[in-house]
Amino acid sequence: MRLFSATIATETNTFSPLPTSLDAYRETVFLRPGEHPTDAPRMCTAPLFVARQRAASEGFTLIEGSCFAASPAGTTNRGDYEFMRDEVMAQLKAALPLDGVLFGLHGAMVAHGYDDVEGDILEHARAIVGPDCIIGVELDPHCHLTLKRVRLADITVLYKEFPHTDVVERAEDVLDLVLRTIRKEIRPTTSLFDCRQIGSYPTTLPLMRAFVDKTAAMEGKDGVLSISIVHCFPYADVPELGGRILVITDNDKARADRLATEIGREFIAMRGQTAPDYLTTDEGISAALAFNDSPVVIADPADNAGGGAPSDNTSILHRLIERDVKDAAVGPIWDPIAVRLCFDAGPGARFPLRFGGKIGPTSGQPVDALVTVAALQRDCWQSFGPTQVPLGDCAAIRVGGIEVVLISNRTQALGLELFRNLGIEPMQRKLVVVKSTNHFMAAYGPIARKVIYVDSDGPLSRDYRKIPYSRVKRPIWPLDEHTSPGLIA
Ligand SMILES: [Zn+2]
Repeated sequence: MRLFSATIATETNTFSPLPTSLDAYRETVFLRPGEHPTDAPRMCTAPLFVARQRAASEGFTLIEGSCFAASPAGTTNRGDYEFMRDEVMAQLKAALPLDGVLFGLHGAMVAHGYDDVEGDILEHARAIVGPDCIIGVELDPHCHLTLKRVRLADITVLYKEFPHTDVVERAEDVLDLVLRTIRKEIRPTTSLFDCRQIGSYPTTLPLMRAFVDKTAAMEGKDGVLSISIVHCFPYADVPELGGRILVITDNDKARADRLATEIGREFIAMRGQTAPDYLTTDEGISAALAFNDSPVVIADPADNAGGGAPSDNTSILHRLIERDVKDAAVGPIWDPIAVRLCFDAGPGARFPLRFGGKIGPTSGQPVDALVTVAALQRDCWQSFGPTQVPLGDCAAIRVGGIEVVLISNRTQALGLELFRNLGIEPMQRKLVVVKSTNHFMAAYGPIARKVIYVDSDGPLSRDYRKIPYSRVKRPIWPLDEHTSPGLIA
């Protein structure tokens, strides 16, 4: 038995003003056959990682293809996508004859000229391997699960958890189902229910937690092989964006249809109840100032670099300055040029600096202020769980009663070192503003006396009605009140 595995992955925010080129893949995951590390999977490479570990015991030969993945940002350069695709397809052709293919994809990748990159990958792969080879795919729930992909792949499995803690377990599921199909123990039969909704569904909140646990418990019983909940990735202008339910049964289309419909209806009934509450910028600042303990942490998810945002939006900072707020710290603002200017000015210097607000209209206006350089550090980092995330050269500047951390490597607020490296102790500030959606909670949740989520005018609006979609298929909630959900496959 012969299996092939490869990865091409990123999460594309088509509204992001930061294009993604091959350099972004080189900075994240750029591994040729045999180069994949043995310690852990990298971004979206779990199917290859798991198949490599199990090849000998399960009696198959794994042919390793390339793995390419880039951190979330804007649309991928067309030539660069085609280069990666063509390399993987040449490897696939050279690996024939094959019984199975395992793709580790993200599911929300867009390249110039390709709305549905994953559909394009599967179309090319299917043309090479033929109709009888079993194709299995692992995707992130923040994906666009198009009809084309579902028709071209035999097995598709999404992560169940958000935050995504079950990447390896779901890759095991994909491999199990692919092997059982090749051995003719099962005949995967798929139904797809389109819920016609855009939403956010952290599985750490109770309603979504119960929903995921309930559907997961149905797997492995009564011929139900797999159930996946598509959350959707809201920051892309592609036709098939939206929440969907995918059910795979063992050769029982009627059961798959029934179950997908039933679970889909339940998902629809949860509309509007699955995300935390968001305040406006001024409401958030007022609530923080009115709270009589500290620190209060304000999150700015709309400018989260982890969702493809530049992390240089200034709107919350402008309001803090205008309201003359004291004892506040803000970070990170991504502005390598401003960092360079601060290094040129030197520690303790007081000079007029323009910073932030550079990359696009959703960055807001730059801040022009007489600033004091409070601290400078080369090659900073912050922690995220067991890993160190590089921040590049960093500068802390003071504007009135507000300290701002400027960074050179674009990333979201994760660890307290973001501030501490530059001599700012977040526990001793009244107010700490962090650019992040929810990952910041691991480090900032325990020190915060209160956490406030603000929906600023950054590029990742939490109010999906504010996103300037032009190509998303309508009607869809919450853009439209009346929708027509239903089975589409
Ligand atoms: Zn995701």
